[in-house]
Amino acid sequence: MPRKTIRKATKQRLQAARKGRAARVKGAGARIKADTEAAHGALPQWTKAEIEEAFRRFAAANPDPRGELEHVDPYTLLVAVVLSAQATDAGVNKATPALFKLADTPQKMVKLGEARVRELIKTIGLFRTKAKNLIALSRQLIAQHGGNVPPDRAALEALPGVGRKTANVVLNVAFGEPTIAVDTHIFRVGNRTGLAVGKTPYDVEMKLMEVVPERYRLHAHHWLILHGRYVCVARRPLCEKCVIADLCKWPGKTVNVPAPQLHQRAAVAR
Ligand code: SF4
Repeated sequence: MPRKTIRKATKQRLQAARKGRAARVKGAGARIKADTEAAHGALPQWTKAEIEEAFRRFAAANPDPRGELEHVDPYTLLVAVVLSAQATDAGVNKATPALFKLADTPQKMVKLGEARVRELIKTIGLFRTKAKNLIALSRQLIAQHGGNVPPDRAALEALPGVGRKTANVVLNVAFGEPTIAVDTHIFRVGNRTGLAVGKTPYDVEMKLMEVVPERYRLHAHHWLILHGRYVCVARRPLCEKCVIADLCKWPGKTVNVPAPQLHQRAAVAR
């Protein structure tokens, strides 16, 4: 859809919202059915113009998006991301200040030892395995990379406890590479909206790398994670607050109009 047409449609929906024809909340059953259909690739692919418009709005609403894992350098970022597997960022942030106070380098982590690391991160899920991996990856960084985090995917993925998603986060946040780390939120948003449909996180990542315009790729990962974490949440997405509600293809949308306030904000940035 050309941008002019999208803006006209947005304007019309905005007017409708002001007249009070806003909410049409759908039941949980309808939403689950819609998610199942979306996951099977039943939604139409977004056009280039729609994708451009969606990211233009994300950028207008949040020009400099940041991740929520606390860290001070590539090593502490790597440690925080390893700890965040199947855990919340908030939970990781509660444990890492005490850990980083004692061990903010691979050398200090190895010296601290597995038992002490385990004790310091015991509030985080899978802490036994994670403590073991932190010691092993720190040893490997010292032995093979001079104690530095390598800015290289293969070298990162060769570290214990580091997979593609972790490598993508480190490459993006620490080294400014335009990678897209697909976590549970991005996987859901990609499939649900029809923006990037795929059966696996890797499929969704490849699709996003194909369709997201180059100039938005560096921040795409944060915009989509924050969108999935705070707006397009799993159980009851907050479509009434969503900046891309009019573009989203999900048949379970809980409103049929875009959020007026946010559209006004996006319009200012045009
Ligand atoms: S309208 Fe927004 S919040 Fe609702 S399903 Fe679509 S992307 Fe998610």
